[in-house]
Formats: sequence, structure tokens, C-alpha cells
Amino acid sequence: MFDNLSEKLDKAFHILKGHGKITEVNVADTLKEVRRALLDADVNFKIAKDFTARVKDKAIGQDVLTTLQPGQLLVKLVKDELTELMGGDVAGVNLQGTPSVILMSGLQGSGKTTFSGKLANYLKTKKNKKPLLVACDIYRPAAINQLHVVGDQIGVEVYSEPENKNPVAIAQNAIAHAKANGFNVVIVDTAGRLAVDQEMMDEIARVHAAIKPQETLFVVDSMTGQDAVNTAKAFNDILNFDGVILTKLDGDTRGGAALSIKSVVNKPIKFVGTGEKMEAIDVFYPDRMAERILGMGDVVSLVERAQEQFNEEEARKLQKKIAKNEFGFDDFLTQIQQVKKMGNMKDLVGMIPGASKAMKDVEIEDDAFKHIEAIIYSMTPLERKKPALIDVKRKARIAKGSGTKVEQVNQLMKQFDQMSKMMKMMQGPGGKNLMKMMGG
Ligand code: GDP
Repeated sequence: MFDNLSEKLDKAFHILKGHGKITEVNVADTLKEVRRALLDADVNFKIAKDFTARVKDKAIGQDVLTTLQPGQLLVKLVKDELTELMGGDVAGVNLQGTPSVILMSGLQGSGKTTFSGKLANYLKTKKNKKPLLVACDIYRPAAINQLHVVGDQIGVEVYSEPENKNPVAIAQNAIAHAKANGFNVVIVDTAGRLAVDQEMMDEIARVHAAIKPQETLFVVDSMTGQDAVNTAKAFNDILNFDGVILTKLDGDTRGGAALSIKSVVNKPIKFVGTGEKMEAIDVFYPDRMAERILGMGDVVSLVERAQEQFNEEEARKLQKKIAKNEFGFDDFLTQIQQVKKMGNMKDLVGMIPGASKAMKDVEIEDDAFKHIEAIIYSMTPLERKKPALIDVKRKARIAKGSGTKVEQVNQLMKQFDQMSKMMKMMQGPGGKNLMKMMGG
């Protein structure tokens, strides 16, 4: 995510590190590079120029040259300014109506339908809501089907009227259906076009006026850079929407949309989409994003994700097994599956401070655990329970069965062994202190 921008900003700050002394000249040079980095990320020229002008003003105001660590202060000023640029505070979704009506807008292909599903799933699983999805695309039957597929996947009802050609009526009927059947959130997915056109704008304006949603969200593909910003402006002029959803942030987007949209439409980014799966949705935190862009990682989000997966009962069971020396490969597999649920590896690595930079040249596979899982699946249940049984002959069989090499099996056995020993140590008499040391 925004790798290029991160790298260029890092280089910009290097100018300061390279000099023994910080001067007005090298601060100016640094900011020039910062501006160039923003422009390369497809940030609008004026926004980039104003950005560095503001940082410069603040730097002068705080007398950056006489502070103990001028380089760090400058990074902090840039971080604050990036945070402000992306929205400052976190903006939630308004869920006050009965039902609360959320209208989705955006171009075709932006990820509107996918996001409608993600939002419904998020509200259902995290906020205890009972959402209803509504298919209002009267032009593409496939779009209606797609929403039904999504609804089935997440166990959320989808309201559609394939024969009805009046989107306003469909949306109104859906809201009546929601009221009559105890749904407390209605998410209306609308028809999109490939580009902004008058007919589409008129139609969504009519739906908007008729159903008066509590929340109108504009969905945009972050890969489209400056175009995303122009489309946002067009939709905002008509709908005066409440927030922006940036999708496909998992791709190699340069970041321009995330950095420019707020300045142009003065509406916050509320959520981001980070993948095709229904779980790939994140609340947008401008400050955390700024830290990630500057390579500072995002430990808060990482811990939050870990906590979401944490299950106290499971943890206690695991502890007992470790104490009794019964930790086996099946438990190892469960652990891997939990980590996988936290998100894709690239994303997780980006959250660890400094890791993105350190692992810049390492190719991280989307499914980094593929081989490990294959090896474990090739073991017999008994071998998984009692890894000590796995001798040379068994190793060869496992490697063959999993399409890996014996060295890979050996490596996994070694890692497993080290991990078991470490876990055992944590539990032993000295373990309590060790845990304390680690903040546990
Ligand atoms: P719509 O026409 O606006 O409803 O767009 P869709 O929801 O059909 O999405 C268009 C394509 O983008 C589909 O192939 C989705 O799987 C994909 N997509 C949507 N959101 C994301 C995302 O956050 N990341 C990635 N990688 N793909 C996404």
C-alpha cells in the first residue's frame, strides 16, 4: 500500500540525515522532495504545494533548526499534516434512523456492490445490526444477481424486484419491507455507469430525494488517482454525500486519491476496501494511515486485529496442552489459521514499524503459509499429535505428499520444535517473569 510514496518520503528525510547540520537550505530541499513524492503519488499540484508550504510554516514557527532532533520534528510535522490532509478525526457512519438508510453511490466497477456486502457484514457481525441489502440497478440483471450472491455468502437478506423498472419505487418498497420485518439498517446499492453521465446522476438524485438516507456514501476505486477525485466532485455536487469509501487499497495504488479527496470535497474517508473478500473492510483512521505511509507501521491496528481473533477459551485449552507437552501440529495449524484471519501477509507486514522497508525486496506471497499447511496436511493424525515419530522415512513421504522438499519439512520441524520449547519456557517457573517482561 503506497509503497512508492513511502519510499520517496523516506529518501526525502534522508537528505537531513546525511548532513551533519540542519540548515534552512536542506530543510527546503527535503520539503521539495516531499512535494515531488506527493506529485508522483498523483496528488493534485495545488494540494501538494499547499501541503509543503504549511509544513514549512510550522517548521519555522517551531524553530525546527534549533531543536535537538530537527529531523524527527520535521517527520512529525509531515505526519500531522498528512493526517489532516486525509481527514483528521475518524468519522463513523450515522445509524440513527429506524431503520437507518444508507445509500451507496459511485461508478460501475468502483466496488460498490462488493462494499455494500462488506458493510452489511461488518454491521451484522461487529455492530449487532440486522441489515437489509437492496438491489436498485434496473439496467443490469447481473448486478442484481451479484448482490444476491454476496447476500447468501454473508447470510444477509437481499431485497430486489427484477420486474420493476423504477428504482425510486424499489428503494421505497424495500424500506417498507425493512420496517415491517425488523431490519434496522437498509443498504441501497444503486446502478453505476462507466463514467459520470446526466441520466445516472438524475436517477440517483431522485432516489436520494425520495428516501432521504441518513448516510450517503460515495464509493471510489483508489487505483484511479486523480480521476477518483474528479468523480467524487461530480457526485458530491449532486448528492452532497456524507463520506467516501476508498476501495482496492490492497492493489499498488499510488495514494493520490486517499490524499486528495478530502481537500477537494471536504468529506471524510470513512472506510477502505482492502481485498475481494467480505472481511476486507477497515475503518479509515487518518492518523494510522499517515504513520503507515511514513513507514512507522500501525501497531494499534495490528493489535486490534489480533484481539478480534483472540478467543479466551481456546487460549486456555492451548495453555493446558503446552503444560502437558501435548502441543502438536494440529494446534500449530489452528494458530496459522488464526493469523490468516487477521488479513493478508503483505498488509500485516505493513503494520509492523520498519518492516515494510526492511522487507522491501522480499516477495511476500498472498498465501505465505501454503507450503506449511500442505506439509501438515500430509502428516497422519498420529504424526501431528506426536511429532517425535516423524523419522527420515516419514519425512520423505510427507515431502512427497505435500509437493515440497525434505529440507522444507526439516525446516518446519525445526521451527515447530523451537516454538514448542519457547512456549514451554513461558509457562515454566521463570515464565511468569518472561511474560511480565514482554508486557503480559
Ligand atoms: P460495482 O460495479 O461498483 O458494484 O463493483 P463491484 O463490487 O462489482 O467490484 C468490481 C470488481 O472489483 C470486482 O471484481 C470486485 O471483486 C473488485 N473489488 C471490489 N472491492 C475490492 C477491493 O477492495 N480490493 C480488490 N482487490 N478488489 C476489489
